[in-house]
Amino acid sequence: MESLEAELAAARDLAVADLADAIESIGFECTRCGGCCTGYAPDEPGGAPAGPGTDDGDGGAETESGCHGGGDADREPHTATVFPDEVRRVADAAEETFGEAYDWRDVARPMPFGLDADADGEPTGETFEWALATDDCGDCTFYEESDGQGACTVHDARPLICRTYPFSVALEGTSQPMGEAVDEAGVVRAHECEGLGRDISREDAEELAAALKERAVRELEEAIGVRDGYDPDARERADGDAVVFDSEGPKAADGTPIGGE
Ligand code: SF4
Repeated sequence: MESLEAELAAARDLAVADLADAIESIGFECTRCGGCCTGYAPDEPGGAPAGPGTDDGDGGAETESGCHGGGDADREPHTATVFPDEVRRVADAAEETFGEAYDWRDVARPMPFGLDADADGEPTGETFEWALATDDCGDCTFYEESDGQGACTVHDARPLICRTYPFSVALEGTSQPMGEAVDEAGVVRAHECEGLGRDISREDAEELAAALKERAVRELEEAIGVRDGYDPDARERADGDAVVFDSEGPKAADGTPIGGE
């Protein structure tokens, strides 16, 4: 594997115009189905989102339990990576929108992969990312739906992963949405989404391409920061509680830094 620094240099060299060409050739328009904002059915190929098209064809209507999409009995919670500075930006946007205080835990939770639960159901172990907080249905807590049309309540402040779904770039050390890529052009990969294949304007393709490049650079900068800031003693200081190692250093599940002795 190339070093993270080499991948970062490659990400910084990506030409936005080339990425936009690739996005234009694949095609995309968001249908507001909510598939990328909600929990998913684990038996779907590749852990596909449980939006319309994976349910009974009811257009994403709420089920009896009030969850969007189908199969809520077995839904896996939505997991979308959010960077530490994005957590703060989303919290500020949510406070402005809803007129109430949003703290770290209202926005993000430790990425569950690699964590266990203790006897009280609290997470324990270590993880290296934050995921957007989810509600009881496993949907992103900022997702709202009416008449089958999804909406993001923090749209202007939404994280890069949301701005760029369903695309990724084929560089090691960057995140890939769950499941295999279903289409590709150049270094751009496209993941399962009902909006793929639709016409996209050059302006929108360029905007998406710029965000995709920014995401790849940020993901690699974050990975390098996590690697360089890893503190093997932090778990002992956390006394059994979960530790999230992000690029700003080790943190407790509520986002509080776990400082040195
Ligand atoms: S922050 Fe907004 S766009 Fe991102 S998953 Fe949540 S509702 Fe969807």
